[in-house]
Amino acid sequence: MIPGAFEYHRPASLAEATGLLIELGDDARVLAGGHSLIPMMKLRMAAPSHLVDLQDIAELRGIARDGGGIVIGAMTTQHELIASAELAAAIPLIREAALLIADPQVRYVGTVGGNVANGDPGNDLPAVMMALGADFVLRGKGGERTVAAEDFYEGTYATALKPGELLAEVHFPAPPAGHGYAYRKMKRKVGDYAIAAAAVVLNLKGGTCERASIALTNLGPTPIFAAAAGQALAGTKLDAAAVERAVGLAVGLAEPATDMRGPADFRRHVAGVMTRRAIETARDRAKGA
Ligand SMILES: Cc1cc2nc3c(=O)[nH]c(=O)nc-3n(C[C@H](O)[C@H](O)[C@H](O)COP(=O)(O)OP(=O)(O)OC[C@H]3O[C@@H](n4cnc5c(N)ncnc54)[C@H](O)[C@@H]3O)c2cc1C
Repeated sequence: MIPGAFEYHRPASLAEATGLLIELGDDARVLAGGHSLIPMMKLRMAAPSHLVDLQDIAELRGIARDGGGIVIGAMTTQHELIASAELAAAIPLIREAALLIADPQVRYVGTVGGNVANGDPGNDLPAVMMALGADFVLRGKGGERTVAAEDFYEGTYATALKPGELLAEVHFPAPPAGHGYAYRKMKRKVGDYAIAAAAVVLNLKGGTCERASIALTNLGPTPIFAAAAGQALAGTKLDAAAVERAVGLAVGLAEPATDMRGPADFRRHVAGVMTRRAIETARDRAKGA
């Protein structure tokens, strides 16, 4: 399939990019790695008149320390997430999840910003961002504003981004030392989107869970932050009864579609299995027991 006609723009700075987006308005779309947008254009599910390519904007790339936390530029590739020893040491959940995105060819060009800003509930990084309590820094006409990952997703392909705005960077608070984490994803084959997946971050003190957060991938119109499920683990020893209660609360939020990845009931069942495995793995990895 051949996409509709469009004009191509390649700004060299963030200021130039936001200027172009404001000038071109609703007719323009940002182009990052192109691994979601170009297929959608070929299928004529998207037909922007202008593409604003962010490839040349150095200030949108990189992984850096931010006080105790980490900041990742929107144009950092998924491969760069996997290759960063510093990131793997500070927030290992990101590497674990990035390794389950698509295949190496996609990850060499697919970006963090594209994965997060796309608004596709099948993308793996949004749930990870929610579980880690990440903040998205958006740049546009009104300057800069910050939106928490858990507040960013409004519907399928609908996010808090306003016309003329782009996602510039993602900020992660430092997870507690010795925290436990896991991303568990069931897919039909290597390189596929999730039938169901769950991200869990928690920490223990004296064998008791102090705090936990749980988020789900591809189980509804948006990625799902299961706040009550995480809260249900806090104050428990993460025993079987506590885990089952949290799993039940998380799965209760899932509204999977019946599609080529299976009937809704099957996908809900897999959501429970993935959430249970993610909690148990995070518990077993946590220090402070
Ligand atoms: C075969 C295949 C398998 C895949 N499997 C998976 C998978 O298992 N898991 C998974 O998570 N993903 C998967 N993907 C998607 C892949 O991770 C994409 O790279 C990602 O979804 C989009 O990133 P991108 O950089 O390619 O963005 P693009 O395709 O360039 O952009 C995607 C959307 O986000 C917008 N956008 C991009 N960057 C910004 C920004 N900085 N600010 C505002 N808006 C922005 C664009 O305008 C567009 O609407 C797969 C893709 C393919 C082709």
